[in-house]
Amino acid sequence: MSNISNFVGAQSARISVEAAIKKAKDNDNYHALLSLTEDRALERADMVDRGEITGKLAGVPFIVKDNFLAFGAPTTAASKMLEDFQAPLQATAVEKLEAEGAICIGKANLDAFAHGGSTENSAFGVTKNAIDQTRVAGGSSGGSAVVAALDIVPFALGTDTGGSIRQPASFNGVYGMKPTYGTVSRYGVVAMASSTDTIGCFATSAEDVALVLGIMAGSDDKDMTTLPDFFAENTQVKPGQKIGLIKEFMTDDVDSVVRERTTQYVAELTAAGHTVEEVSLPMLRYTLAMYYIIVPAEISSNLARYDGVRYGYRAEGVSTLAELYGKSRDEGFMTENKRRIMIGSYVLSSGFFDAYYQQAQKARTLLIEQFNELFQTYDALVGPVSPTPAFGIGENTSDPVKMYLADVMTVPASLAGLPALSAPAGTDEAGLPIGVQLIGRQRSDAQLLALAASVEVN
Ligand code: GLN
Repeated sequence: MSNISNFVGAQSARISVEAAIKKAKDNDNYHALLSLTEDRALERADMVDRGEITGKLAGVPFIVKDNFLAFGAPTTAASKMLEDFQAPLQATAVEKLEAEGAICIGKANLDAFAHGGSTENSAFGVTKNAIDQTRVAGGSSGGSAVVAALDIVPFALGTDTGGSIRQPASFNGVYGMKPTYGTVSRYGVVAMASSTDTIGCFATSAEDVALVLGIMAGSDDKDMTTLPDFFAENTQVKPGQKIGLIKEFMTDDVDSVVRERTTQYVAELTAAGHTVEEVSLPMLRYTLAMYYIIVPAEISSNLARYDGVRYGYRAEGVSTLAELYGKSRDEGFMTENKRRIMIGSYVLSSGFFDAYYQQAQKARTLLIEQFNELFQTYDALVGPVSPTPAFGIGENTSDPVKMYLADVMTVPASLAGLPALSAPAGTDEAGLPIGVQLIGRQRSDAQLLALAASVEVN
């Protein structure tokens, strides 16, 4: 069921946009948003109403994670480092949506620089789960997931480097997808780890996710890693698919209710005429270790640009250049940002590069080979998104390793550049949402979404 279609061609874009802004303000207590882009949004709504802007999303309000460069409010990446940063240009993804008439109404909270899995690492406060305010929203795109779940807007953009769209989608009971690496241009999005960063979205149906991704997809001269648009191919669900249930994700370490919901989803797939068999990827036991070497390495390189000279925050009262760099970085970054910069610098340093970074890259190649091998037989893989439903706010903050362990099911698809989505698969006894993950071969994104749409569980 598409929610976006209720907005397209609505009598008045101004009324739709005003209603969305009001709803955002009324739900302020979730702290899902860092800013509203109200003036610009209303101006654009009036242009739609006057027929000056048209397109497939004319008048449809949306929200972006605050690591997308967008006009109308600062782009903070939820960090003190970029607290006052006004984007000089807009991300390609935002430009493409605007070209179809969509209207950005605000910017959503995240873990600073997208480092995290709970939106507790924001410099501007924690976002609360849409279903239970004592629980985390998930992350790092927690704010975007919550605004989609609260139906403030019919879709919201996020980024997913190791699970940051899929896990919060699962924690808040909405659809969320990271497409094949390179599907959507990363130009104008604050970089985290360039070899796994992807742009994707949240919505309340798989159809809406497909619509938005289809608009954003395609090659961009400003991002050399983008692929030509393949989204229009294979949009009909292929009957009688062979699907692999990932055995390593169904062990006793995973909450029993998560396993039960996954098993029920598998039953739905079977009832829809697909065949599901258990499969194994032995390299999965090394993926967290690979991820937390490769990703910090790339972070340490990408975040080197924030030195207090060229961008963002600059510390006061320093007398040397080294002090300016050091103090600006110390005060502008959150603890988790610094931890990753330090791990990354360490694994890249001479003497440790061979022992850590290079080994991790070799292991990554083996993981990719194992996925490729499975995709010779299977059309898609299925499993949980997260070992638990949304955990309590503060529960994992004192133990970074425990927080990293929660990413075990989402990082594999990221390291292999595969499309992966989270689809709602029911709730636990307390009503907390649980998501199921579908992973496909590269460029099978539309097919994966069609599969999810054909077995919607409510
Ligand atoms: N939770 C993961 C991490 O902390 C994923 C983050 C992301 O995808 N941006 O790295």
